[in-house]
Amino acid sequence: MTYEITPLLVGIRRVDQGIMTYQQRYGRRIWLPMWSFLVRGNGHHILIDTGLDEFMTPPEFHRETGLHEPMTMIDALNAEGLTPDDIDTVINTHLHDDHCGNNRLFTKATFYIQEKELACCRTPHPLDYRYEPDFIEGIRITPVNGDLELSPGLELIFTPGHTPGCQTVRIKTSKGYVVIPGFCCNKENFPASGPAVCPGVHCDAFQAFDTAQRVKAMGGHILPLHELEVGSPNREPAGAPVNSYIQTYDRQCNS
Ligand SMILES: [Zn+2]
Repeated sequence: MTYEITPLLVGIRRVDQGIMTYQQRYGRRIWLPMWSFLVRGNGHHILIDTGLDEFMTPPEFHRETGLHEPMTMIDALNAEGLTPDDIDTVINTHLHDDHCGNNRLFTKATFYIQEKELACCRTPHPLDYRYEPDFIEGIRITPVNGDLELSPGLELIFTPGHTPGCQTVRIKTSKGYVVIPGFCCNKENFPASGPAVCPGVHCDAFQAFDTAQRVKAMGGHILPLHELEVGSPNREPAGAPVNSYIQTYDRQCNS
């Protein structure tokens, strides 16, 4: 069984590159896109992460990136011919606010979240301000403890370090395996040569470094959670259709 993956741009922030890459490349302002990944196959509509619930898109975003504005989650799903009720499964890589902000929309879905992450969200450490317990209220959760094959070709892999309960998702597509890392990162975390770079935000830097090496070694095509190029292998010109940046992984491979 193979799946098709469509990245949905559902939020944007502007941050320093050092937020992604520990002890490297500080001092460069970057666009930080929030992707939600729509996974279709085997009769399922699955979402990996649910983006930000509120965001403002600065006017220079389009000028600097050539991309159209991020959408609300509902608009992004509508552009794919779906509504939140069509989503039967949600996987949260972790529970920072930029990855679960629209969880409440998915009342028909079963959520798969690591037990350790749920515990962090319910009683956050004061140092980690990104957790909001409201985001896991009123949803149907199946807690996960470690690795889990959700179905053939769709695996959750426990990869702590960025937070105590991060999980990476490995998905079989018609073009090979895709790996969606369970920690905030962009392409700078995965240089073509040399070791992967520890995420700039972590609860345990050594563990996060080891996790980054494991993810890089998994051998699939990596779609970093905050990489602008995930949805734009060829930057779209001004005036392109509003959803033109939404490209399936298969279409990217063919281009
Ligand atoms: Zn993030």
